[in-house]
Amino acid sequence: MSSEIQDHGLATPEGWRLEHQYAQLPALLHERWEPTPVKEPRLLILNEALASELGLDAKALRQRAAVFAGNELPPGAKPLAQAYAGHQFGNFTGLGDGRALLLGEQITPEDRRFDIQLKGAGPTPFSRGGDGRAAIGPMLREYVISEAMHALGIPTTRSLAVAATGEVVFRKQGLLPGAVLTRVAASHIRVGTFQWAAAHQDLVALRALTEHTLERHYPELLGAENPALSLLEAALKRQASLIARWMQVGFIHGVMNTDNVALAGETIDYGPCAFMDEYDPKTTFSSIDRRGRYAFGNQPQIAQWNAARLAEALLPILHPDENKALELANSLIEKFADFFQLDWLTVMRAKLGLFTTEAEDRTLIQDLLNWMQNTKADYTQTFAALAMGRLETNEWQTRWQQRLSRQTQSHAESVALMRRHNPAVIPRNHKVEEALAAASDHDDLNPLHRLLTALANPYDHELDLPIEFTEAPPACNTPYQTFCGT
Ligand code: AMP
Ligand code: MG
Repeated sequence: MSSEIQDHGLATPEGWRLEHQYAQLPALLHERWEPTPVKEPRLLILNEALASELGLDAKALRQRAAVFAGNELPPGAKPLAQAYAGHQFGNFTGLGDGRALLLGEQITPEDRRFDIQLKGAGPTPFSRGGDGRAAIGPMLREYVISEAMHALGIPTTRSLAVAATGEVVFRKQGLLPGAVLTRVAASHIRVGTFQWAAAHQDLVALRALTEHTLERHYPELLGAENPALSLLEAALKRQASLIARWMQVGFIHGVMNTDNVALAGETIDYGPCAFMDEYDPKTTFSSIDRRGRYAFGNQPQIAQWNAARLAEALLPILHPDENKALELANSLIEKFADFFQLDWLTVMRAKLGLFTTEAEDRTLIQDLLNWMQNTKADYTQTFAALAMGRLETNEWQTRWQQRLSRQTQSHAESVALMRRHNPAVIPRNHKVEEALAAASDHDDLNPLHRLLTALANPYDHELDLPIEFTEAPPACNTPYQTFCGT
């Protein structure tokens, strides 16, 4: 039945149209595996807007909790666990999907291809002693933050649904109600996927993965003279641009291990991530990141370090001559800082309403950031106030006004540019926690829905959102800590 559906490219009544390009890659890269059924599937939340973008019938899906819990498969699904390695806090390990299964690639009505993955669907051959499961809190957390990132216009994986399992999972915090997240991604190919192929010295797999990644994410580069080199450069640029966008909104990923870096350039793996309140480049929320490796201000350097790991993995297919391969890789990695600086300056200029470029812009931006750090100013509120003409910083303000007056664009144009780049609202940590606690402890999804509504149009400064969503956290909520406690 499923192969007929694919052969004719027709969608099923619910709209499923699953293909399996990734499964065609060499066997080293995946293992066919079935989800483990759960006791009592119950749909907690369904992303109707995303469903419709995917060509899925939201109304029909509402009745299909069993599919979102892994108890039944959508027609045409051929679940598999992906193999990958990764540097975790700098240490190299073999990993793989320990609790996630790729069901297939959904082909949308616009003929776009998206991975459909169940996260928390039971143990796999890569579970390494883990239970293969996930708790409601962290899965709803991924749902709300990834959807907030999407609304902020930042490339990200998305969340289609969260289903409760009716089972409990055992975590450091105790027994927690279990859940499965349905994640949607341009792909789940990671730097760690390339590292896995390289660690096995499997050049056939490495080449096939390179071709596949180009085809899916950089089709304009297909047929390039040196596919691996072209992929490396394009992936590097996309990563640089992604990190600049994180810095734009104060996002701290929290666990930028190479297995959590997607070649598509999407933000992926929402674990201990959080948005910064007071501006401080040293801000780290994750309880396991004791040395601040993944602190807000370190993210660009870490991205470069991760890019170097991708380059390393690609070395054997960059050039037949090892030294020449190293040279090619190094010259690209060295350029990463420039790629990032350019992207960062572009977004930061936009945040200040600047259309033109002047040599002193970097200093102007840095001086505002320094002022924010010294006065412990809230990152989001400061820029929102700037966009609304409500910021008072004396000396800096005068320099900024003079800078604005040297461009030909009108004041109204500058304000519009600022409003498009300075969110009025972000998912505040205390509001996220409040919503997750209500859902997880009291089965009350209302605070989560209210939060999602508040986060849906973050650049609309006229919305008059309830102050609870826009104000900085109460002092007792800082310092805030996040847990990998997935
Ligand atoms: P993460 O920290 O979420 O990026 O996960 C790192 C690795 O741990 C991946 O290989 C995951 O599949 C695996 N993992 C995380 N949680 C579990 C779990 N509960 N059971 C099995 N594997 C897990
Ligand atoms: Mg991960």
